[in-house]
Amino acid sequence: TGEKPDRKRVLLKVSGEALMGGGAFGVDQKTVERIASDVAAVVHSGVEVCLVVGGGNIFRGVAAAAKGMDRAQGDYAGMLATVINALLLQNALEREELPTRVMSAIDMSSIAEPYIRRRAVRHMEKGRVVIFAAGTGNPFFTTDTAAALRAAEMECDVLLKGTQVDGVYSADPKKDPSAKRYDQLSYMDVLAHDLNVMDAAAISLSRENKLPIIVFNIGEAGSFARVMRGEGPFTKII
Ligand code: UDP
Repeated sequence: TGEKPDRKRVLLKVSGEALMGGGAFGVDQKTVERIASDVAAVVHSGVEVCLVVGGGNIFRGVAAAAKGMDRAQGDYAGMLATVINALLLQNALEREELPTRVMSAIDMSSIAEPYIRRRAVRHMEKGRVVIFAAGTGNPFFTTDTAAALRAAEMECDVLLKGTQVDGVYSADPKKDPSAKRYDQLSYMDVLAHDLNVMDAAAISLSRENKLPIIVFNIGEAGSFARVMRGEGPFTKII
């Protein structure tokens, strides 16, 4: 346990918003199924895949705190939102006939295994898709940081951040038509220019562990497999 795998091992971070499809809230089941089939394609290509799922489609602690809710309490609610998403993804992955385990950072033993690193590694070695739920288990963190943390713990080769845009831009491409997508950035570029990719904790953790990050649009069917073959568009942070 804990040894570097022979096969390629990657962590895919799926933002909560990516599960909304065209909707404004909650989960679009068709979108979840499509993401599951994209994951299946990559697993069948011989890659070990684990997932961290966000919860922003259901609840965000920071947004609730802005309206007067206690931040930590809101964050715990946000972490539970990620567990809901994890269960839905697990179901969709099982329909793809992929063996799947949900491991939660907050104990919820009736519906998910507790997160135990060595057990997670074992699941992955056996070819199971592990979904890490409940973020880091701590308030004041994000699922992006959870993704960087779990990817480091699992000794993943790369962290793929699946979002709604096909990479990191110099400005918001929806507002500024002259915005350019970067093909590659350094961790320091992201931190120094406060680029809106991942929070600083996630970037720092990835930098310390020399974990490359690839930002791509998971809203495009088949994009996960294409990115794994090195086909763009995406932004790589190294
Ligand atoms: N959260 C937390 N600690 C963590 C991960 C998540 O408190 O380690 C809470 C936080 O309130 C966050 C919410 O869960 O707003 C949903 O996660 P996130 O916003 O990262 O989801 P995403 O943006 O990926 O949908």
